[in-house]
Amino acid sequence: MDKKEKSQAELLKEKLLMNPENSGILMNDEQIGKANAFCEDYKKFLDEAKTEREAVKTTIAMLEKKGYKPFDANVAYKAGDKVYLNNRGKALIFAALGKRSQTDGVKILASHIDSPRIDLKPRPLYEEAQLAMFKTHYYGGIRKYQWTAIPLALHGVVCKKDGTTVEVCIGEADDEPIFCINDLLPHLAKDQNQRKLHEGIKGEELNVLIGSMPFRDDKLSEKVKLNIINIIHEKYDIIEKDFLSAELALVPAYKARDLGFDRSMIGAYGHDDRVCAYTSLMASLNVDQPEYTWVNILADKEETGSDGNTGLSSRFLEYFIADLAKPHGIEGRTVLMASQCLSADVNAAFDPSFPDVSEKRNTSYISYGACITKYTGSGGKYSTNDASAEFCARVAKILDENGVIWQTGELGKVDHGGGGTVAKFISKLGADVIDIGVPVLSMHAPMEVVSKTDVYNTFLAFESFIKA
Ligand code: MN
Ligand code: MN
Repeated sequence: MDKKEKSQAELLKEKLLMNPENSGILMNDEQIGKANAFCEDYKKFLDEAKTEREAVKTTIAMLEKKGYKPFDANVAYKAGDKVYLNNRGKALIFAALGKRSQTDGVKILASHIDSPRIDLKPRPLYEEAQLAMFKTHYYGGIRKYQWTAIPLALHGVVCKKDGTTVEVCIGEADDEPIFCINDLLPHLAKDQNQRKLHEGIKGEELNVLIGSMPFRDDKLSEKVKLNIINIIHEKYDIIEKDFLSAELALVPAYKARDLGFDRSMIGAYGHDDRVCAYTSLMASLNVDQPEYTWVNILADKEETGSDGNTGLSSRFLEYFIADLAKPHGIEGRTVLMASQCLSADVNAAFDPSFPDVSEKRNTSYISYGACITKYTGSGGKYSTNDASAEFCARVAKILDENGVIWQTGELGKVDHGGGGTVAKFISKLGADVIDIGVPVLSMHAPMEVVSKTDVYNTFLAFESFIKA
């Protein structure tokens, strides 16, 4: 068959118009194969790193294998040096020193490794109707009704007065018990069904079932509670008081899985934002002799507003940059004002079942590539870093030159909600910042969905940014 000459209209369309709907078919078999292989390891990372502490631990192990050393503020690091700074086991900064002077700025990749979940209260254990339960306080923006009647695992740490820390992870192995939050049966849910969806399950109803067997030879009350604390004591050597000095959380007990007949997607807990943590980490590990120094931050507390000393409204990033620059006689602020940052976070993908919440020309779509988000916030661009036109152009140029498939996204229709990322905290330090990441379906649900090719293109975006 003859190759048809392109019409003038076709040529003009290619030259002048964006055709994001073509993104999904732009990748060839080889690239799709690479994306699939990349995502096999990503799924393993998700299974190993379900909390920020586990993400820090897993990442440090990977960094040390590649020769990264703990950061020392007194050392004048030179090109080729690779360091990491562990902030309290919950947030991590790592960096590779570039050939250029830090006065030219550094390239920052910033994602977060905390995800919405169900935290235990400081005094969680109680018994009622011969059932042992945990009281909880949910962490981050969850839709509470989604967290009932699913298998949950308990992850976290308990710090004891003797200075030791007990690590807890129970409910992940096939032979370990799981936990769950109960919901009403439909037969008796007549009144509950009249509630508004956001209080279908109320905060104080998010109670976790943890046992039902009473302590055998006891005549006193709360025999089940006693039996459970006894089991916990035997297993972890902790007492009820130690729950105060603990960070224990319930997370979904299942593993990341391929989704769809075509296996083109991944269903898992915690894509937001470990998908950007992992892609930025893998990109960083590939660029260890950079032109510009790059700094990668895996932050905690984004899901609760970035407050606290492991969140990015804290000054630990600013201090790190200052400490890195100081031995060279450079001021931290000089570095920061010249720096460029990709705030690496997910965006909401268009969901055909709920088309009304998105503006379909400016929302992101599954499998259309990495998603650039110029601004987040809500209600007239309040509370956002609105990336400058200059910086948008610089980033778009890098992505295009490196063949990255990308799209733009906006979090929902104007005045229909919204949300934020760490972008505004880093722009506060003086750096140029833009949001970029992976589109997600069912964001913040116990099972979120991403596309494998989007994950891979986001990785390529980060890699080309820190290489450029
Ligand atoms: Mn996020
Ligand atoms: Mn989030």
